Amino acid sequence: MDLLEETHLKLSFGKLRRALQAFETYASPRPVTLDWAVTGHCNARCVFCEAPGISAKAALPTERMLTIVDEMAEMGVEEVLLVGGEPFIRKDLWEILARLESRKIRVSAISNGIVISSLSSNELALLSERGSRLSLSIDSSQKAQCDIIRGVPGIYEKLLSAIGRAREAGIRDLSLNAVIGKDNLKEISPLIELAAQEGIPFVHFQPVSPAGIFVNQPPLPIKASFLLDDEGDIAALVAEIQRGLITARRLGIGTDLRMFETVAVPYFKSFARKESGFYLQELVSGFRCIKAFWSGYVDYEGSLKPCALLAHGGNIAQKSLQSEWKNLDPLRRNFRKGRFEPDCRYCFCNAGENILASLLAHPWQNRSLIRKLMGS
Ligand code: SF4
Ligand code: SF4
Repeated sequence: MDLLEETHLKLSFGKLRRALQAFETYASPRPVTLDWAVTGHCNARCVFCEAPGISAKAALPTERMLTIVDEMAEMGVEEVLLVGGEPFIRKDLWEILARLESRKIRVSAISNGIVISSLSSNELALLSERGSRLSLSIDSSQKAQCDIIRGVPGIYEKLLSAIGRAREAGIRDLSLNAVIGKDNLKEISPLIELAAQEGIPFVHFQPVSPAGIFVNQPPLPIKASFLLDDEGDIAALVAEIQRGLITARRLGIGTDLRMFETVAVPYFKSFARKESGFYLQELVSGFRCIKAFWSGYVDYEGSLKPCALLAHGGNIAQKSLQSEWKNLDPLRRNFRKGRFEPDCRYCFCNAGENILASLLAHPWQNRSLIRKLMGS
């Protein structure tokens, strides 16, 4: 089992080494990658997501988006992961993609598939030629459940159409991305089977989060009902993950299920027990956040932070990426000392890369965790 497989879309050993170096020497002159929520709005209505309530107008204008790309290039950003909301609903996205291309910045995207299913062959070919990586979000292999969770009748068919068209266009590194909560635990294995059936090599799993997708949006109250909140639910999750691992091995599909199990179980337990501590510091000896040293997150209004969960950060709507990146130094200094923010207790999306870096830095103190992740 390749440990790096557990951080699909994001990490290579080269990047991991550079991130650790930046952490050790406290030299973080630039982000190597950025997650960029180019819009907060979304054309889906997922029951656990606040994005649909955000206006499409509440996003930075085209002109600033293009100069941000220039600033990224000047700082040496190598890859951008487009997120949202739904990134493909931005009317000027192709202009932004063209600028990213001309500045030699690689692009990956996470999408709900609605717009992708109706892209022209030429547009899909452009994505493919640019070597874009694409992850499509789907939380159930059953049409009825998928449509209910995603809040759009017919979205399941659109997703299947998006998968087929993206595959035909030759888009590299196609993957599925599933949010797992109480209602769709039993979908882990069927989603892996769906991936095999549709020719998709990888499925990424993440737990439903009690936090809002954007810090300026209060989390939807309904989220609590998706959390696994007792020992029975958590035991059922572990059993479904084991079933998923067997299915994945049988069908030759890559997943991050070992990391998902390692993290999701203490994550849900921590919320079930209403603990206020940071579960990752308890799970990993010498836990460190390298995300803040090699990467960053820009939201639809220009907030710049180490990741989406944090309330603090700069804003590049008016100021330059360079100056605002530098202004994150005090936060990084705290992280180096193991002082995390209260919002970090919701850390999951970036937990995989942070855990790998922490294991690499402290292998002896984390032998049993390493063995678990290696499946031995
Ligand atoms: S989870 Fe993704 S697809 Fe669903 S509403 Fe939120 S941003 Fe849109
Ligand atoms: S939430 Fe996780 S990735 Fe984000 S700053 Fe905290 S530890 Fe780092």
